[in-house]
Amino acid sequence: MHYVTGFLRRGLPFSLISLLALLVANLYSAESVSSTNHRFEYHDDIQALALSLPDSFRHDQKLVPILAALTAGYPKALQALEIRSDQRLLVCLAGQKFIYDDGITKTFEQRLDNPDIKDMFYQTYPLTNPTDRLPKDFDPGRCRVEGLFMTLYGDSASAVARNCVVVEFCGNSVKFNARYGAAEALRAVSTDLTPLLAQKPELRSYVNKLAGTFNWRKVAGTGRLSNHSFATAIDLNVDKAAYWRWVSPTQLETFSRKNWPSEIIEAFERHGFIWGGKWWHFDTMHFEYRPEIIAYAKSAPARIPETQTAQP
Ligand SMILES: [Zn+2]
Repeated sequence: MHYVTGFLRRGLPFSLISLLALLVANLYSAESVSSTNHRFEYHDDIQALALSLPDSFRHDQKLVPILAALTAGYPKALQALEIRSDQRLLVCLAGQKFIYDDGITKTFEQRLDNPDIKDMFYQTYPLTNPTDRLPKDFDPGRCRVEGLFMTLYGDSASAVARNCVVVEFCGNSVKFNARYGAAEALRAVSTDLTPLLAQKPELRSYVNKLAGTFNWRKVAGTGRLSNHSFATAIDLNVDKAAYWRWVSPTQLETFSRKNWPSEIIEAFERHGFIWGGKWWHFDTMHFEYRPEIIAYAKSAPARIPETQTAQP
């Protein structure tokens, strides 16, 4: 628009400018009418919802599994899909709208900084344990649409604090978000771990001193909010932890997760948590409640890619 008016001011007689301005105004009003989003309500049937979309949206093979994973992870959050005037699909979740696929080709870092809903499922979290070396930049679940988590759990430290309850976790009292089943899931992990720790006392050192749950803060070295901000992540004993920022870049390539107790990882995964140890950028004390990522992994079981190169 600025190019057009600038060009008009420089090179055209006034009457012609008026005519063009009128045409533009008419075009603009037509655009206003057509800019009303086309809405498709969700009625507990994702296949039917997908089938109600125009043909051009049906070829996306990930759409149905992603919507199913979001619905499994966050029951009752999905309300509708909308098609915007620019033909972008919006996912209406818990009263807000999120772009499904912005169509932008992103680098690894850009995907972390500005993900759309589809980017959150770019890599499939592997449910197999234990995990040894991983391909470079294999970080399933590390892409998070920040606005979605603000909508689900609270958009400020005080809002999240109001949603927190105290959970007894393996002898520790911790704050965790009560919304969307997060606190309940952490309680269930503790219930699963209790007999395990009685049977294998050597595992107690992982959970006898925790490094924290709720903390409204950015991920170290980034502008992105950590999932600890939403009180949906827990760090186990820091003495047992390995974190990618604490090692040299060459150690990232050779780092093995094999010595981590798979029983603990599996207990968390059973209740919708992902483990930071399954990221190439590892954070082995970190577990976060991401039931949509676990649901997606179950619907499309994936082996860990064997190549050492980043996926396109
Ligand atoms: Zn953490």
